[in-house]
Amino acid sequence: MGRTAVTCAKCGTNYNVQMYGKHSDRDYRAANWQGLCENCKAAEISDAAKDNAVSALPLTGSEKQIKWAMQIRDKAMAEVMAFVAEYRPKIKPEHLDTISPAFDRAEKMPENHPEASWWIDRRDIDWADLVKSEIKRLMTQK
Ligand SMILES: [Zn+2]
Repeated sequence: MGRTAVTCAKCGTNYNVQMYGKHSDRDYRAANWQGLCENCKAAEISDAAKDNAVSALPLTGSEKQIKWAMQIRDKAMAEVMAFVAEYRPKIKPEHLDTISPAFDRAEKMPENHPEASWWIDRRDIDWADLVKSEIKRLMTQK
């Protein structure tokens, strides 16, 4: 275990990440790095938040429910996007096809769940955990 130098896929800045596993494996991942540095990651998350696509999606329910669900949904999607941005670069290339549907599903939650109650019912869950367990399910299904 140690720090490995990688290059940000977006701005080309070199930075170090903690990598685990065999040396040859780490070299391969560093050479094929698709991750973003902290700055780009932060920019991507705030872009996603700014681009109001998610916030603009309609919700159904009472006015009060909708207002509440919108806050939960914004927070949930920020957590999901942060998790995906952090996790995606760490996936081994051979697992990407298996795992990608979990990310797609997570990103489509606002489209697939327009009911305010769906979000309110889940207000206390750990959204990253939700994606993690979906990944686990896909990996064990193989
Ligand atoms: Zn960068």
